[in-house]
Amino acid sequence: MTLYPQLIIDALKTVRYPGTGKDIVSMGMVEDNIRIDGMNVTFSLIFDKPNDPFIRSVVKAAETAVLTYVSPEVNIRNNITVKAKQLARPEPDKLLPQVKNIIAVSSGKGGVGKSTVAANLAVALARLGYKVGLLDADIFGPSQPKMFDLEEARPYMVEVEGRDLIEPVENYGVKLLSIGFFINKEDAVLWRGAMASNALKQLIGDANWGDLDYFLIDLPPGTSDIHLTMVQTLAITGAVVVSTPQEVALADARKGINMFLGEKVNVPVLGLIENMAWFTPAELPQNRYYLFGKDGCKHLAEQLNIPLLGQIPIVQSICEGGDAGKPVALDTDTVSGQAFRDLATNLIEQVAYRNEHLAPTQRVHVTKGK
Ligand code: ADP
Repeated sequence: MTLYPQLIIDALKTVRYPGTGKDIVSMGMVEDNIRIDGMNVTFSLIFDKPNDPFIRSVVKAAETAVLTYVSPEVNIRNNITVKAKQLARPEPDKLLPQVKNIIAVSSGKGGVGKSTVAANLAVALARLGYKVGLLDADIFGPSQPKMFDLEEARPYMVEVEGRDLIEPVENYGVKLLSIGFFINKEDAVLWRGAMASNALKQLIGDANWGDLDYFLIDLPPGTSDIHLTMVQTLAITGAVVVSTPQEVALADARKGINMFLGEKVNVPVLGLIENMAWFTPAELPQNRYYLFGKDGCKHLAEQLNIPLLGQIPIVQSICEGGDAGKPVALDTDTVSGQAFRDLATNLIEQVAYRNEHLAPTQRVHVTKGK
């Protein structure tokens, strides 16, 4: 069989862009760069925005259309490049040139376990061999020092190339800085607005983070000035949103997701994380009780066409681990430890997918250094 571009175009005419219902060829989304080399086919799809929620599904549908209507022998998997007309971030990140991926961990509501998830995700990534940093930017209740058993720790200054920098404190393979190291809990209320924003900027730009594969930011719940400061300060690779499965939590999670995808913030959402998905008693690890309803986040993720990165059960040890400063992700032999390891693996996959499928100039993260 000899392949030629029109065959591919005809197949792609069967693929509809869900946002408009029109086919991707007539919408001008197929770039005029189809290359054929034997059975190898490569081309680019152009989206308006790098955080278009339909990127993944349209790429999959385009692959399937070529395999179905041209030939199952065509080598198309992973050969479609995604480009975006509009850049994710106007400026590449100059503040943290040695950091590969910056992940914002957020939630619509307080109390859904965002900080617990951020801590365990950081530990799980470190356990998988990655260099990990965590910035606790939750000015309303900085809880990471406690979760990392570092309540008494105080970061000191180091001189690096003539600059005085704050040295993050480290435990369980995670470098940590928290607004909680610098303020008393009782004073936190005074630290909103510009003061908090400036302090956080300092913890990012004037700290000795060094080389990191993943830099996680534990954001305050909801939507706030801090969110805006963070996206204006850093080239964030993507955000993950933590929610519990009840309707009230989901409504707020949806607001949070819309904030990230909106024009003002414009950060890709890498996925949703369902926390407290079900209750599992330690002595009956196979039993699941859906206290807050079943699969609420899964359904929201499907509706919004974003990945569900993980479902974390309610387990007593998760709460105890947080209070004792020993995150459960340290022990991957437990059900909860495994859940966080799977979550970390899914996140890594999602970040890799984003980075592979966006053309170099449109990448949402910036790889420098090394
Ligand atoms: P947030 O950061 O969203 O305000 P936290 O991470 O502080 O929430 O969690 C709130 C409380 O719920 C903490 O006491 C924490 O230990 C507990 N918790 C969070 N996730 C779980 C879980 N999956 N199982 C059991 N307890 C949890």
